[in-house]
Amino acid sequence: MPTEENLPDRDGELCCPHCRWRATRRTSRPIVVTLREIYYQCSNLACGHTWKASLVYDYGLVPSAIPDPKVNLPLKPMDRQTVMTAKADAKADPNQPRLFDWPGGPSPAAA
Ligand SMILES: [Zn+2]
Repeated sequence: MPTEENLPDRDGELCCPHCRWRATRRTSRPIVVTLREIYYQCSNLACGHTWKASLVYDYGLVPSAIPDPKVNLPLKPMDRQTVMTAKADAKADPNQPRLFDWPGGPSPAAA
């Protein structure tokens, strides 16, 4: 049975769908700028399940101040208070894979 220490405790972590123990991200790679493949492995040695998951851009909440004219992504605007509440509730996780990593190196915007 999973215990408190075997359950996911960080945003972005998943439970094994079979035994419900914490799963570890083994690797990930960007497919396109809005889609990343993530491979997980169950931390329960008695289980050992591994699987692939996906992180997908659903829609924007606030338009970019520096939009790329080649990018056309769906936007679902929210009022400012809703966005500020969602940002305040979100926890930063330095180990979280970044959806917008530029394939092969840092993004041109970060340079
Ligand atoms: Zn498992």
